[in-house]
Amino acid sequence: MNEQKTEATVSFLDLDLAPEVLHAVRDAGYTHPTPIQQQAIPLALAGRDLIGLAQTGTGKTAGFTLPIVQNLIGTPLVDANGEPVHRPRVLILTPTRELAAQVEESFRKYGKYTSLRVVPIYGGVGIEAQSKALRRGVDVVVATPGRLLDHMERGNVGFDDLEVLVLDEADRMLDMGFAPQLNRIVNDIPRYRQTLLFSATMPPEVEALARKYLRKPVVVQVGRRSEAASTVTHAVYPVPRERKNTLLVELLKKPEMDSVLVFTRTKHGADRVVRHLEDEGIAATAMHADKSQGERTRALDDFKAGKIRVLVATDIAQRGLDVSGISHVINYDVPRQPEDYVHRIGRTGRAAATGDAYTFMSPDEISMVRAIERTIGQQIPRISVPGYDFGTTSEASLPVVSEPISADIARAASTNGAPDQAEKQRRYRRPRSVARRR
Ligand code: AMP
Repeated sequence: MNEQKTEATVSFLDLDLAPEVLHAVRDAGYTHPTPIQQQAIPLALAGRDLIGLAQTGTGKTAGFTLPIVQNLIGTPLVDANGEPVHRPRVLILTPTRELAAQVEESFRKYGKYTSLRVVPIYGGVGIEAQSKALRRGVDVVVATPGRLLDHMERGNVGFDDLEVLVLDEADRMLDMGFAPQLNRIVNDIPRYRQTLLFSATMPPEVEALARKYLRKPVVVQVGRRSEAASTVTHAVYPVPRERKNTLLVELLKKPEMDSVLVFTRTKHGADRVVRHLEDEGIAATAMHADKSQGERTRALDDFKAGKIRVLVATDIAQRGLDVSGISHVINYDVPRQPEDYVHRIGRTGRAAATGDAYTFMSPDEISMVRAIERTIGQQIPRISVPGYDFGTTSEASLPVVSEPISADIARAASTNGAPDQAEKQRRYRRPRSVARRR
């Protein structure tokens, strides 16, 4: 009998992965591909352009890393003597250095049984070591846009051999004002390439970017647009602004709060919360743009190792971080952009884990919470703590609407945009011998 495989029964063995890649997946301890991996891996292996609508925590990084590693080792780049040549064939652009470091780690993890070389390129650290690594030869460059342009202008790296471009967290890159840098970079790389774009949300600016940089993309979506990770339990605590500190301390007394990520809107806010927690004898560290790379790495390591229980961060510092095992996310301030709410709580409920996401809402933040509820298409339960609630019984509930995916992108998803055979040869299976091409 020809049984249809359900999501849970699909195994990595069904995905046509090379033994080297499968071996690394087994080492990582994964048994089943996540939904985004099930959808994205076969398409990326086939060389298709892809729009992945998925937030962090869905396994999207492996969703693009695994097929890229596989395609690279399937068509090794060699010189006239058959010796491996390392030239950038893959470029991954990320909004933050933390995410770049994480994607680099992912390539090391899944490429451990190959001789692929990966180099992370981001600001805030010395440029010389990066220049040296680039000059020594590299297959995969994982970079933030500003520092990469710096290297390109110095002539440290060229992308004549580029085959794959990945734009990770495209919405955040645009939010951070990287559009001009992206344009300059993309103008300097080959037009015939595979492009994969990942984004948690699809505002019109990201759609425009996709139209400009991608060719007949397939859209792969996990959950509804802007849907928050479904394993997360949400709650809103109504509380006057001046009582947020004491409510936080109260909540942190719960024994199940063993690894808590607290978000504040500003750097000073983060520092203030840390000082207050320390005064109360709770070990906490701040993570924001004013901290050096070393300090951020140390904070993250201590948090992961369980040495500090509470990490207090701003959005920029935390975006896309892989901090496994977070038990709770607390939005000390309500994020101004509803999308940031989705990203923040993407920290908890990662892959199969569950988590709680609490949001402190002062009276001036009610409308922002409602905007979030409209975006995620669900109403968040209010938890009233006696002595803290400022009285929300009069808070009229708004109808909650979820927006359908935009018509343009839906159309792109439904067209059969597979490149024809000749085109595919030209784009993805160029002769890999450097000597032959020269
Ligand atoms: P990402 O969404 O790429 O940030 O990944 C979220 C987390 O899920 C990371 O900690 C990954 O190591 C983990 N992960 C990725 N793929 C799988 C899988 N197939 N099974 C279990 N965990 C996974």
